[in-house]
Amino acid sequence: MKKKSGKLKGTLSVEHLHHFRCGSCDKWWSIGDPSIALPGKQSVTKREWFCPWCGEKNIFGDGKEIKREF
Ligand SMILES: [Zn+2]
Repeated sequence: MKKKSGKLKGTLSVEHLHHFRCGSCDKWWSIGDPSIALPGKQSVTKREWFCPWCGEKNIFGDGKEIKREF
């Protein structure tokens, strides 16, 4: 345990969790901050995604990022 001068300094990070629902099998999956892993930080809605359940190729949205707060 690191402890200097009586106060501990932790780390805070924010993750944007994206939920995807397959247009073929209707099952869903989630990816945290998927745009970080995409080349050139491209938009999540401007590429194709393969469903991890049925393998079908999906597109999501109309090219615009969908923002929905819960
Ligand atoms: Zn599917």
